[in-house]
Amino acid sequence: MSGKGKTPAIGIDLGTTYSCVAVWRHDRVEIIPNDQGNRITPSCVAFKETQRLIGDAAMNAAAANPTNTVFDAKRLIGRRFSDPLVQKDVMHWPFKVVSGHEDKPMIVVTYKDEEKQFAAEEISSMVLTKMKEIAEAFLGVQVKDAVITVPAYFNDSQRRATRDAGTISGLNVLRIIVEPTAAAIAYGLDKKSSVERNVLIFDLGGGTFDVSLLTMFDNVIKVKSTAGDTHLGGEDFDNRMVNYFVDEILRKYKKDISSTRRALRRLKTACERLKRNLSFMAHSTIEIDCLYNGIDFESKLSRAKFEELNMDLFQECVGHVEKCLQDAKMDKKSIHDVVLVGGSTRIPKVQQMLQDFFNGKELCKCIHPDEAVAFGAAVQAANLTGQGNQEIQDLVLWDVTPLSLGVGVTDDEMYIVVPRNTTVPSKTEKRFTTRFDNQTAVTFSVYEGERARASDNILLGTFVLSGIAPAPSYVPKLKVWFDIDCNGILIVSAKDEKTSNAKSIVINNVKGMLSKDEIGILLEEAERFKSEDEELKNMFKAKNLLEQYVYSTRAIVMNKKHTLQLPLTDAEKIEDDIRCATRWLEEHKFAGADVFEDKRKELESMWNPIITKCTTF
Ligand code: AMP
Repeated sequence: MSGKGKTPAIGIDLGTTYSCVAVWRHDRVEIIPNDQGNRITPSCVAFKETQRLIGDAAMNAAAANPTNTVFDAKRLIGRRFSDPLVQKDVMHWPFKVVSGHEDKPMIVVTYKDEEKQFAAEEISSMVLTKMKEIAEAFLGVQVKDAVITVPAYFNDSQRRATRDAGTISGLNVLRIIVEPTAAAIAYGLDKKSSVERNVLIFDLGGGTFDVSLLTMFDNVIKVKSTAGDTHLGGEDFDNRMVNYFVDEILRKYKKDISSTRRALRRLKTACERLKRNLSFMAHSTIEIDCLYNGIDFESKLSRAKFEELNMDLFQECVGHVEKCLQDAKMDKKSIHDVVLVGGSTRIPKVQQMLQDFFNGKELCKCIHPDEAVAFGAAVQAANLTGQGNQEIQDLVLWDVTPLSLGVGVTDDEMYIVVPRNTTVPSKTEKRFTTRFDNQTAVTFSVYEGERARASDNILLGTFVLSGIAPAPSYVPKLKVWFDIDCNGILIVSAKDEKTSNAKSIVINNVKGMLSKDEIGILLEEAERFKSEDEELKNMFKAKNLLEQYVYSTRAIVMNKKHTLQLPLTDAEKIEDDIRCATRWLEEHKFAGADVFEDKRKELESMWNPIITKCTTF
């Protein structure tokens, strides 16, 4: 299908601090400038007495109207108010956030002299509306279709909330794609290779840090692993500088400005400017007239001091790179290209530390750090609407799951259905059965995590499949699918093969709202308990083998007894043994793997000769 003549589809990088919009036109990507001529637009909304401002105008109003100027909505999206990360952020923001219905964080502002509450999706939708309008003004037509990007570690709930924000803004969200993949498209189009290349995308933005390892081969881009931190970026560097100058002001002027929102906001804006300057100069100055109580603040900062203030954060970034490589089981020597994305990668020390980590390897700065994500999203948008040329139509994107997904089964075992780092979209099917005779309903609890015990992982949702045809335990065949779509959204379905009764669950706004940091904590925990978990897994495996043996023998005996293929005395002897074995299993729920194995061998040596004999009976 040729999409020529259609309304253009746009790609939007909805960033924490800045957003960027792009479109595929005239066989290439165009980054769309806003009404101020800027190619990136602050993800900021200001509420005033008479009007609402979005983008640059809102940012400019921030100092005068700090409590009603909202930024960082991306840090709230898809999260709960009680989330410790939200609690931490709330302390730093000049605007108010309260807990709404079902613990949803609500931003409180005064707009047109009335107190109003907005969800993060609504604020993000205002930013998206602005990006849509920027595109419409540039293209001279109405825009409907869009691809929106999210960080790789955004969980299901955060992706959904972002999609909702798009819908609220009147956009038809064609797809949600992850930022590193979008950046990889931009990079991949630039550097096509007919041999497989391992590419590390280092994306350090204003609020988030993503590191992703991808393989690229011809037009196929495959994410191997991702790591990072949803709360690490340029704003943290700014905050370190703010704290430094707050201390200096306290020392010099004996004035504590730490609880004065307006002064802090102005200081932060000036620090951000200073930080940018320090990427090009060894020293720079900060000047703020009438900062607080008539103080005209003026000071200097060296690049060395800036680096000292942030060294632990820079080191954290390198730590995440190491982890990403470990997850993909790759050595740093096997990385062909290290690609820089995100405004904060302009910081010379970050570049130097990364280069040192890769033993002096030249870093790739071939794609625009602020625009690469929107570029990739625009390519994908054109691709999905058939508007691109042959070169981009052939692009194939493969993403991965950040954590394993599975079901909690008997005795709290985490039964993994979709292993961590599985390529998506994916559809995985597994067989389950019942535990008790004549059981007509089974509860499926879906978990995310790496621990052997289900309850040590994150519960994503629970559903009950009922109407199962009554049968002895272990006989019903229950088919379960884990379906992850190209937006990374999970649907779990279960069906009884006999009655065709089915039930499914869309993992939506559930308790398991995981951030990248939380995922990091879970992975660390899994690492710490590795040997204990390994023991548990072996135990579950040995126990399952024993149970399977007992119940399959029972099924065989019942069948052969029924068809008179087994002498009654033998059948009754085994049935008696089975009852004893079932009781034994109940009494030895958590015995060691070797105990279960010994028991299975013991039963096999007793039953196998009889079963084998009966086939010739
Ligand atoms: P992004 O989220 O990719 O748009 O990146 C925005 C972040 O990049 C903000 O925190 C900016 O302060 C930061 N940034 C932009 N340019 C520079 C620069 N020259 N030096 C240091 N940080 C920068």
